[in-house]
Amino acid sequence: MPQSRSLPLRALTFDVEEYYHIEAAYPVIGPRRWREWPTRVEAQMELLLSLCQRMGVRSTCFVLGDVARRNPGVVRAIAEAGHEIASHGSNHDRLHRLSPESFRRDVENSCRMLEDITGKKVRGYRSPSWSLTRTTAWAVDALVNLGLEYDASIFPVARRGYGVSDAPITPHRLASAPGGPTILEFPALVWPTRLGNLPVAGGGYFRLLPLRLMHWGLADAAREQRLSTLYFHPWEFDTGLPIMPLSRLNRLRTYTGLRHAPDRLTQLLRPPARWETLGDMADKLRDDPSLPTFTLANARRATG
Ligand SMILES: [Zn+2]
Repeated sequence: MPQSRSLPLRALTFDVEEYYHIEAAYPVIGPRRWREWPTRVEAQMELLLSLCQRMGVRSTCFVLGDVARRNPGVVRAIAEAGHEIASHGSNHDRLHRLSPESFRRDVENSCRMLEDITGKKVRGYRSPSWSLTRTTAWAVDALVNLGLEYDASIFPVARRGYGVSDAPITPHRLASAPGGPTILEFPALVWPTRLGNLPVAGGGYFRLLPLRLMHWGLADAAREQRLSTLYFHPWEFDTGLPIMPLSRLNRLRTYTGLRHAPDRLTQLLRPPARWETLGDMADKLRDDPSLPTFTLANARRATG
């Protein structure tokens, strides 16, 4: 299908993890009991890969190291279908639980596992549960140090436990401290309103709220020619999701809207748009002098 330059620019991303990796399950299941739970990711990725093929969209898949460990075939299937493989770390530890050194090891191990399977260099990273925030700014230096080219961990919203509310809502260069090394950052899509930035990039917001909010957010980004980066998890499409002993609120957040998720994603992918992988976007933006720099440590923005 010929694609015009004026089409809205969008990036579809998946955080490829199992249902039991989610933060809400951490206190009740936790890494030591992961293997007691059935793996579901393969079937869900099969569904998502065929949906992407039908819609002619290539995605970026941030694959968790633990998925690569238990289901290397999933990583191969994603790569063979032409999607980009990037890293979601090894063990889905929120960065607040890690030290700079253990974080470095966590990311390095995940990249090695993925690269051993695909034979291709991993170029991008996304932190678990958007946990790269101002308090874990040190992670940026580790990512640069590991040779990663881009990050997609910043959610420019004000939320308890995550979000960097005043981060740029367009691709930028992210630094931990003034004058520090920078990494290319692709923030998740938000819709700037008088009430602040509304999260319309996917995840729980995609399943729990009316889909028109995402459509409006996408339309706003298209009008302003901003890149829209969306994110989803394979378990969000699993109508046979095993029941975990979660709190009432977390159960509601996790198990609502699974049935209509494939249809909703199809609706989001249907309008004419130019869908790019973040790796391809990074190639285009690497030397772009117009990108702003955003520093996490003092939250000051400078153009440069
Ligand atoms: Zn995750």
